Amino acid sequence: MRRWRRCTTAWARTTTRCPDRATALRRSPGSAERLLAMAGGRSSDNAAEARPLPFNDAFGMPPRASGLAALPPWLVDDARRLLQRELDDRFPHALLLTGVDGVGKRAFAAWLAEALLCLERVDAGGADVLGACGQCAACHQLAAGTHPDLALLAPEGRSETIRIDAVRVLMEWLQLTPGAQSRRVALVTAADRMNRNAANSLLKTLEEPAEGAVLILTASQLGRLPATVRSRCQRMLLRPGEGRVARDWLLAQPGIDEAALAEHLLEACADAPFAAIRRSARDALANFSLLQEAWLDLFLHRRSIGRIVSALTDLPREEILRQFAAWSAQAARVSLLQEQSGASGANPAVDSFLAETAPILEIEHWFSLHQQILELHRTDSVSFRTQTVLEGLFADIRSGIQTRQASRQAAT
Ligand SMILES: [Zn+2]
Repeated sequence: MRRWRRCTTAWARTTTRCPDRATALRRSPGSAERLLAMAGGRSSDNAAEARPLPFNDAFGMPPRASGLAALPPWLVDDARRLLQRELDDRFPHALLLTGVDGVGKRAFAAWLAEALLCLERVDAGGADVLGACGQCAACHQLAAGTHPDLALLAPEGRSETIRIDAVRVLMEWLQLTPGAQSRRVALVTAADRMNRNAANSLLKTLEEPAEGAVLILTASQLGRLPATVRSRCQRMLLRPGEGRVARDWLLAQPGIDEAALAEHLLEACADAPFAAIRRSARDALANFSLLQEAWLDLFLHRRSIGRIVSALTDLPREEILRQFAAWSAQAARVSLLQEQSGASGANPAVDSFLAETAPILEIEHWFSLHQQILELHRTDSVSFRTQTVLEGLFADIRSGIQTRQASRQAAT
């Protein structure tokens, strides 16, 4: 799935760099296939494209072992309904997936596109829903991002918009005769990021769909799409579903290990699981900055202990202790490194805030501080208020710093 996105992003960039290519394609439709194949090939040897995408960057969830998209469990009924329509030969040629931000529209669209192109669908985790098998020739191509009958268009650039020339090339491509599966799928994510002209260039395809062409659009803000486009698509509203399914799914994601946290995140995000994951990542980052500030304030004497502790009141005590214990151990190693090399923290592999604070204590003192915090973490008792625990710890640290400074002064 990740490779698939990289490949198609490269394709979108190709069209952006060569605005006259769309015109060329109109004259010679066969070259569209070559363009797609070329873009796919180039992505693999382009260093900038080859960087691994962070978790959540592509479709919000890690791919299955086969490299294909997983079906979000709260959307199983929607999947079953859609595939039943396909069996009844009533599958829409243009599908518009809507729903709140983070409900899983892109993940669902990716799963659906792969299911439509697989040659040997299999049961996708029970509940009578057949998804891509991950084994057939088509699935191997899908996982490698080289399937000739699948294309993805997503917003790009700083403005995060979908450009008209990219839409034109995609529509030309969609009119071509499909390959083995007699179906050709184009996926346009965040279609509400198209401007009016780009949206209008979809209309011809929507009005006169080619045989076997399937267009899947996703949009959170329906109002941004022209009514002419909306009315020509089969609309499907995806809902977060019953809370327990989403909660259990969240609990299986990295970094979310408590039911209470999963529930809190869902509540804060209108029950949309992918929004909850994004929020969790954002919160984790904010907490990290807060802890880093507190660490510097403490060791560089920038603020009083009372003020440092009150800045940390919203963080769970375990998180503070765990992070400070880890940093103490790292500071000991940095201190050792600095002592050996005689350098004062110019090592680019070392975080600058650790390099700055490591010389403040002796190596042995860092190790004993690490042990002390671990001990505090282990014997953490609810009968002591977090404020009391932290004030005690921070006072110990400050007095250790003073002792060190006094002995240094005595030595000089
Ligand atoms: Zn397959």
